[in-house]
Amino acid sequence: MPPRLYYDVKNPGLVTVDRPFYRRLGETTRRTLAEKIVVPIRTGRAWPVKQGQLCRIVALEGPQVCDFNAWNIHNPRERFWAARSRQFEGAHVTTGKRLWSCLPYLRPILTFTNDTLSTTPTPYGGRCHDLLGSRCDPYLYKLQNGTEFNLTCHNNLARAIAPYHLTEWDVHDVLNIFQITGLDPDNEIYFTEPSPARKGDFLEFFAEIDLLCAISNCPGGDLSVPGRGPDRGDPLPTCKPLGIEVYDVDPALLDGWRSPEPVRLSMSVYD
Ligand SMILES: [Zn+2]
Repeated sequence: MPPRLYYDVKNPGLVTVDRPFYRRLGETTRRTLAEKIVVPIRTGRAWPVKQGQLCRIVALEGPQVCDFNAWNIHNPRERFWAARSRQFEGAHVTTGKRLWSCLPYLRPILTFTNDTLSTTPTPYGGRCHDLLGSRCDPYLYKLQNGTEFNLTCHNNLARAIAPYHLTEWDVHDVLNIFQITGLDPDNEIYFTEPSPARKGDFLEFFAEIDLLCAISNCPGGDLSVPGRGPDRGDPLPTCKPLGIEVYDVDPALLDGWRSPEPVRLSMSVYD
């Protein structure tokens, strides 16, 4: 018997997505820039995106990876759930894919509307923008290098969300943007390849609910130089700034769209 897909786009059942709607949003010029932010090398930044807005993460000067988190800004216990998003959408995201929130909510909190990176796998099977891995963190540096190092994506995300009264406990499994990753065929160990992003490349999404977003501009730069382990070097020369652009769209384009509701059970999970 062939394996059964967790979610079959050709036979979606109740979980459908209006792809032409999101394609129109991604391609529209009926948008105005609401906010533009530059995220310097090795730093993090958090920013709100209102439901109905578009947001781009931009490789301003060339290859650079970043780690992305997103929460319901009104209730940060609701945040995206990398594992369920991976099951529904695939381990790597691109135009038309969505990020789903954790239990007990389970709704799409954002939908990707544009992606200038190639979706063709590398010769090693690596693909871009993954939900497979997580963030670099100071605990891992201590474990693998024996040294204390506070320039990591976990630190950057924790610092970025502190003004919103969130802490390192709120940092969750990330979407790695502009990063090529996969699982090796022998042991299914996570691997990375250098970022293929060129100057001006971007990944764009539509906010389905009011979001607080955060990125860490990864201190590992473009990942061509390992920062941990026996072959480690200094990735600092490969680090580049990233851009964030938030757009308001012509409200007429949102006719018929409604912010998705969480799944509501009529019975208690404790019954
Ligand atoms: Zn990192």
